[in-house]
Amino acid sequence: MSDSELHYLISALRGYLDELRETGVDGLPYDDDRKDPVVPFVVAEEPASMTTDVTVGEISGCDSLENIRRELGDCRRCSLGEKRTNLVFGVGNANADIAFVGEAPGRDEDLRGEPFVGEAGQLLTKIVLAMGLAREDVYICNVLKCRPPNNRNPQPDEIESCEPFLLRQLQAISPKVIVALGTFAAQTLLRTREPISRLRGRFHDYHGIPLMPTFHPAYLLRNPAMKREVWDDMKTVLKKLGREPAVAPKADEKG
Ligand code: SF4
Repeated sequence: MSDSELHYLISALRGYLDELRETGVDGLPYDDDRKDPVVPFVVAEEPASMTTDVTVGEISGCDSLENIRRELGDCRRCSLGEKRTNLVFGVGNANADIAFVGEAPGRDEDLRGEPFVGEAGQLLTKIVLAMGLAREDVYICNVLKCRPPNNRNPQPDEIESCEPFLLRQLQAISPKVIVALGTFAAQTLLRTREPISRLRGRFHDYHGIPLMPTFHPAYLLRNPAMKREVWDDMKTVLKKLGREPAVAPKADEKG
């Protein structure tokens, strides 16, 4: 097999695994002895000790984004700092009513130093416009600020190092609503293993701020039919803010 064929195969497999993860599947069985019937896949169950409301201390604006960015500096607090092209801090309105939080920068974001600028980012911008807002009206960032190699899943030590800065960003912005984009962001912020398909569609509490989980735009690119669910979630967000959407697109027209 040539290098390009291998690269294509790995890329296709990664896309498939991302899709499984987005729908709540977070593991595949490995039966070494093949003694038992193989279960097709494992669906994550929420541990009894976890809740989907994070209420340890309420968010209050007391920091500034400039201070947080300055403090991050040329961050090497985890190993991703050695491999990134650019640290992707976040963009948008420092006083936004809505903050969108994704997983981590991808290739385009790493190169540009800005979150959600690739194909998925363009779809997110369309969603924001359909909500009657401009991209500059909202704040957009990720749980991790540096790209994991080959877009692999973030590791616990990377989250532990980076998430405190995200929390401070959200404290500084103090948005009225947070939208968690995709499984990883929703599960990380809410400290849960519940699949996104069960988390989405309703508000959860994140340090006193309503948090709406919804599907990641990259997932929508592969599953356009799910745009309807995301649009329903965004209408729920707008209702919370007392706003009307700019347009009411059909699910297959949006994006
Ligand atoms: S991912 Fe976060 S903690 Fe790790 S190097 Fe980048 S900015 Fe620092």
